[in-house]
Amino acid sequence: MYSRFEALQNYGEEEKKVLQQSTVAVIGLGATGSVIAENLARHGVDLKIIDRDYLESNDVYSSNIYTPEQCEESLPKAEAAREYLSRFTDVETRVESLSPDNIEGILQDVDLIVDGTDNLETRLLISEFSQKEGLPWIYTAAIAEQGYSMLFDKKCFNCIFEKVSPGKLETCETAGVLREISGQTGLKSAEKAVKLLAGMETEEKLDVVHKGESLDVESDGCKVCHQESLPRLNGQSKTTAVCGENKYQVHLDSETDAGKLEKLGDIIADNEYLTRAEIDGREVTVFEDGRVILNARDRGHAEALVSEILGL
Ligand SMILES: [Zn+2]
Repeated sequence: MYSRFEALQNYGEEEKKVLQQSTVAVIGLGATGSVIAENLARHGVDLKIIDRDYLESNDVYSSNIYTPEQCEESLPKAEAAREYLSRFTDVETRVESLSPDNIEGILQDVDLIVDGTDNLETRLLISEFSQKEGLPWIYTAAIAEQGYSMLFDKKCFNCIFEKVSPGKLETCETAGVLREISGQTGLKSAEKAVKLLAGMETEEKLDVVHKGESLDVESDGCKVCHQESLPRLNGQSKTTAVCGENKYQVHLDSETDAGKLEKLGDIIADNEYLTRAEIDGREVTVFEDGRVILNARDRGHAEALVSEILGL
């Protein structure tokens, strides 16, 4: 199965073994994360895959590993991805939102973290965890016709990106993303992961995929890399933006009775992981683990709607 890899000048039996003994966490399984996960799986790397969202029809366009049938079922991305990836390697899934509360439990014992998320908040959380644990991670972002990939090991993501305001960032929903760009960007990050795990030298440069550039970016010291403050890791955010048009996730303190949805609107999807209903023209999805994803104008509106609709 791996003869093409073993025949390479820079890789061989030894590197194959190392890869197959490694475990990588892939966080976010959309247009970039699904590409990274598939490539690592085909190398035989064990995977921990984490995604909080469910499949929608646009995922058939963005990702090779999902089928239209899975999207119609509204399967969680992590579970749908496992169906495909477990043909090649061991896969552990988490249908959860990465948070300060669960990050340690989920990411302990992995050799590398790869970012396939679509949002800055999760990346800043991963960055702080990596700083604290001394664990490398690979940043991946693709939007419109631009893609970025960078390994963070000694350098600090926070130094470079803390000045960026998440609210001002375009999302893949508003700007779209060309699947060839997200695919190439995912491949770039997967290649970095393979090199790093195989013990080869991997530069910490920001690769700009569509331009073929590799930029030297300096991290010049901030509270996070000096370990003076880890605000995301120590904080708790109840509501976060999800990639999607005005789509928000609200973490509930208690479990929600998904049966309530049936009385309030029409059930669109119902499986062992989630229940989704249309209530007053708005889609509301309640997950087993006590999260709600819904459309709203902003965070405050999302929280108000959840309390109004679910009576919490
Ligand atoms: Zn820093």
